[in-house]
Amino acid sequence: MRVGPVPPWRSPAVVVRPTYAHIDLDAIRANFQSVLAHVGGPSGGVDVIAVVKANGYGHGAVPVARALEAAGARMLACADIEEGVELRRGGVRAPILVFGALSVSDLDGVFRHDLTPTISSPFAARALHDAAARRGVRVRCHLKIDTGMNRLGFRYDNLASTVPAALAGASLEIDAVYTHFATAEDAAHPLFDQQRERFDQALTTLSGLGVRPRVRHAGNSGALLRDRATWFDAVRPGLLLYGVAPLAWAGRLSLKPVMTLHSRVVAVKGMRVGETAGYGAREAVTRATTVAIVPAGYADGLDVRLAGRGSVLVGGRRVSVVGSVCMDSITIDVTGLDVTPGDEVVLLGSQSGAVIGVAEVAATIGTVPHEILCRTGARIVRTYDAEPSPVASRATP
Ligand SMILES: *Cc1c(COP(=O)(O)O)cnc(C)c1O
Repeated sequence: MRVGPVPPWRSPAVVVRPTYAHIDLDAIRANFQSVLAHVGGPSGGVDVIAVVKANGYGHGAVPVARALEAAGARMLACADIEEGVELRRGGVRAPILVFGALSVSDLDGVFRHDLTPTISSPFAARALHDAAARRGVRVRCHLKIDTGMNRLGFRYDNLASTVPAALAGASLEIDAVYTHFATAEDAAHPLFDQQRERFDQALTTLSGLGVRPRVRHAGNSGALLRDRATWFDAVRPGLLLYGVAPLAWAGRLSLKPVMTLHSRVVAVKGMRVGETAGYGAREAVTRATTVAIVPAGYADGLDVRLAGRGSVLVGGRRVSVVGSVCMDSITIDVTGLDVTPGDEVVLLGSQSGAVIGVAEVAATIGTVPHEILCRTGARIVRTYDAEPSPVASRATP
């Protein structure tokens, strides 16, 4: 195996490290279209709010958001005001819903950058109301109902005593009401249906209180694939846009993988029987072993639990990680393979037909695919294939 094609660097300003992520924006656009087609789209009465929080699930918030905008997304969503401001500074013009709690100090960003805040507590409602009143404006917002997650949101069962006071005054306009499911990926859990029923009940109560939103939304990736009764007027997929379906509902929608993670072998050497690799000196090898060192470690987002468990692709073959996952490198077993420094290593993605998927890596270490994507390290340079993305950029931490 010899050196593969050089990654598609576009900017001479980028520091070239051998470990980089490639983001297929065409695939993101295609995935958005798939979700849209699945739920019927705006003409069928169900719109798609594209979730780009947490740096676009590690893919780079601005390029991802702009690609989704170009694909027709009519609303994006992020976690907090700071993320919303970053999207606006990156040129995103579509409405941006902010999921997270509003603190008092950062409220200014809502007005200056035209963000759509979520009201998820009486305190937040008053703070937003007062900030809007001071500016003499009305602010359109979404009201979040807690139907059983016990995270943010107004409790579903005492709305009559919380909502009227929270929404008193003329400065807040409730454009939408939403909730979020705790167990969408667990087909057997009864809380899912309970939450849906509680949301229906909450909408009825709100209507009685004079709150009649234009839009109701509830379904994340898992919920929207699980049950069309969660679609209401819009769905809120994140994971699906990045090409991954929750395990329980995989196969219900065809998606394209978006992120691939690449590196290169920097050294090849031998280990004798009984020796160990890496910190902790665990798991002595039982045969003479050839190992390759790959400059990607937990600082790049690789989970330390992949030690002795994970696989990577080199020379079109699947090989295992031996020893520990270090901060800046892993060691892989290449015994019997023709591997040379400079050879391409695929940590996520495909090589000569062999594939390592996000869902597989998540299952190997017992987590959700979201975590694998989001933890892609801040020092990993992202490269992008297509306009309207900017040149390769570093993630903002
Ligand atoms: C993150 C998030 C989503 C998207 O979840 P996925 O499982 O990635 O589809 C939707 N709604 C809310 C409120 C979220 O926080």
